[in-house]
Amino acid sequence: MKHNKANYGDESPIAAFATTPGSSALTLIRCSGKGSIELSSSVFTPAKIKDAPGNTVIYGWIIAADEKIDEVLVSVFRAPKSYTGEDSLDICCHGGSVAGKAVMNTLKNAGFRDALPGEFTFRAFMNGKLDLTRCESVMEMVCAKTDTARRHVVSRLSGSLETEINKIKQLLVQVLAGAEIYLDYSEDEISADEDEAAGKLPNHEAAHNALAQLKKLSASWQLERIYREGVTVVIAGRPNAGKSSLFNSLLKEDRSIVTEIPGTTRDWIEAWVSIDGIPVRLVDTAGLRESADSVEKIGVERSKMLLQEAEIVLYVIDGAQGITQEDSDFIGRGVKRILVWNKADLALPPQPFPFADNALVCVSAKTNEGFAGLNAAITDVIQSQANFAFTDLSAGLGTIRQKNLVDAACALLEEALALTEKEEPLDIIAPLLREAVNALGEITGEVSAADVLDEMFSRFCVGK
Ligand code: GDP
Repeated sequence: MKHNKANYGDESPIAAFATTPGSSALTLIRCSGKGSIELSSSVFTPAKIKDAPGNTVIYGWIIAADEKIDEVLVSVFRAPKSYTGEDSLDICCHGGSVAGKAVMNTLKNAGFRDALPGEFTFRAFMNGKLDLTRCESVMEMVCAKTDTARRHVVSRLSGSLETEINKIKQLLVQVLAGAEIYLDYSEDEISADEDEAAGKLPNHEAAHNALAQLKKLSASWQLERIYREGVTVVIAGRPNAGKSSLFNSLLKEDRSIVTEIPGTTRDWIEAWVSIDGIPVRLVDTAGLRESADSVEKIGVERSKMLLQEAEIVLYVIDGAQGITQEDSDFIGRGVKRILVWNKADLALPPQPFPFADNALVCVSAKTNEGFAGLNAAITDVIQSQANFAFTDLSAGLGTIRQKNLVDAACALLEEALALTEKEEPLDIIAPLLREAVNALGEITGEVSAADVLDEMFSRFCVGK
């Protein structure tokens, strides 16, 4: 079969769209692999590509049997100075739904095959251009939802995580080497102070140091996951409290219908917003009141389900009405909520405020006052839920794969330290240290099974 996983790892010439075909000024087609420059040269005029030095741009036409297909600019890269480390080309042709396809067909007729998902990045990894953390960050960049998320990814793309992992691995290798020397030579051949050695690993400090750094990295995932996947914030409250108005103000555009008649938002409306750089799936629910209207009843049921899913609930109180029994009943149940006193332009909350355990923010969705405070309250809750302040961090984890391997290394090292304390023999402890080193090697791709790589890269998009 043409598209099976066995194709990963060969050097054959591959081509893929790097841009989404459709209405745009330009379409980019990437080509890479052995003979890719010669093959493209055979469908290009004037035939200068074959002799072009690396890192040059050539203007001309893609042709098929002397028929001009499209006018293009071709960037030529020669191995090893390219993204993949192979000879490769970026063909920039006209946008729209037709030109790119015609160029692609011409390339395929010339001998290119469709690239598999992530195959360019796979080749970059195999040719030592990128470690696995950087490969993953390429995909993370494509999926980044906010500018802050982008900055975190840029740090990994620049190698911050790779450097951090290698530093920790270095410490563990020191510990392992120390243990292996003890195993290779009898104790009286090594001038160790026996008292000091009892219950301690050779290079004990380094082991503890590595463990502390691994734990810090592992903890970074909580917040990194939030930057990556975002959080669900559900707006709830009585009809007419101003939920839709609040939703619109947070969105800064008029998406949700706002009327004077209670119950306009019968189902829910959602949108992604960036709140202080955190991707937030903001959901405006139907009012929570009991209703005889069957359509509205369904809306209310769905609202209740969404409330279960939410990481944070913004419970809107109608400032003009004050706190009603319905509000008190709702606030009395459950946690994770920020109370939003809306219509603060009309009335302020009573003092003392009866629900002191909940964060309270006063806003006016009409005058847009108080939103800086609301944003701050939302980020505070998220940071405290993640139990991690991003300022602590030099490098963070970008994927669950990385997190699982860091946790595996952590557990192995903890076990090794616990056995050491019990003065168990080093020949039981050393293999645990070796496994921990290997787990870290897997993160960067130094140690990697072929099936793991196939599985990882097949989740990339085509053209990456
Ligand atoms: P929902 O039913 O909870 O979604 O409430 P809406 O957002 O539809 O608002 C109900 C009514 O309250 C509308 O007439 C809004 O213009 C009005 N409203 C919403 N927020 C404010 C506010 O902060 N101040 C004032 N004065 N009116 C508001």
